[in-house]
Amino acid sequence: MTLQAVIVAVQQFRGETLAADYPVTIRRPCIFSQNHPSALPILQAFYADNFVLPLPDGHRFPMAKYKLLRDRVVSELPGVQVLQAPAATDGELALAHIPAYIESVIHGTLPAPAQREIGFPWSPAMAERARRSVGATVAAARVALGLGARPHGIAANLAGGTHHAYAHKGGGFCVFNDVAVAARLMQAEWARHYRHQRQPLQVTVIDLDVHQGNGTASIFSNDSSVFTLSMHGEKNFPFRKEASDLDIELPDGCADMPYLEALERALDELDHRPKPGLIFFLAGADPFEGDRLGRLALSYDGLEARDRRVFDWAWQRRIPLAFCMAGGYGVKIDETVQVQVNTYRVALSYWSRWQNQLS
Ligand SMILES: [Zn+2]
Repeated sequence: MTLQAVIVAVQQFRGETLAADYPVTIRRPCIFSQNHPSALPILQAFYADNFVLPLPDGHRFPMAKYKLLRDRVVSELPGVQVLQAPAATDGELALAHIPAYIESVIHGTLPAPAQREIGFPWSPAMAERARRSVGATVAAARVALGLGARPHGIAANLAGGTHHAYAHKGGGFCVFNDVAVAARLMQAEWARHYRHQRQPLQVTVIDLDVHQGNGTASIFSNDSSVFTLSMHGEKNFPFRKEASDLDIELPDGCADMPYLEALERALDELDHRPKPGLIFFLAGADPFEGDRLGRLALSYDGLEARDRRVFDWAWQRRIPLAFCMAGGYGVKIDETVQVQVNTYRVALSYWSRWQNQLS
């Protein structure tokens, strides 16, 4: 990372004047699904072929799920437009990560134990995938928030949710923390757009992946402008957890009803905290009963009810929401993808409500 990139990142975070070459507008995306007239507003979801990283034979990460999800979304949900995810720049990554860590990832110089903690072998493709995964969440957040443009209210990353990444290290298949970078970048862009506002853009992270969002909790541990909620398996990875602003710990085998009751209590609690101007929702598929790593027992219906409750909570308060897929390790990969497709169906119904209001 160059010094200039770091300076630009800090300036951006403070809402100061930006270097002319800094990417602050939505880059013109290329369209994967050509079956929509481009003038029609459509739920935008960001994807890159780079998401599917070639892994050694026998690797336990279900990399194929990203393309399977993209293909099903494109073929089954004509209301969703799949767009090319941009790559996050060094300057953007530096909003949530220390420069030495970014440099080690980009140049492949991480010590072996740190690379093992991430869980993927290093390659240029791994580094590019990590950039794109962050870029997709940034793009989704911009579209949802709509600074200086028509807000969509809801937009998505077809991957992302890399919540185990800390400022200085990765872990658990997470390299960079997409939501942390996107939250800080949106705060900076919001501050620049609304110069008269003294208060920062308040952000809430609703992390419903079955594993705790330890990296996110750590990054925002001293930042009251970002509220972190994590609902996760008490006995599941990561075994040394961080303190989120609100942690809901669930017992092994937790099924639909107790899960949804816990979610209700969590959302009630959010109503007593500062109202956010932007929500990031990690819609992990790994609380599903057929998940290899989840240890919970939610059904398809239970997870759909979960998603509906989160989208509804945001909609009732008219808070823009960007969502990402986070984990999913189904014994049958198609079941993970089905949970995710269901999330998109729910998202579409709430996205339509936003458009009716905005039109
Ligand atoms: Zn997970």
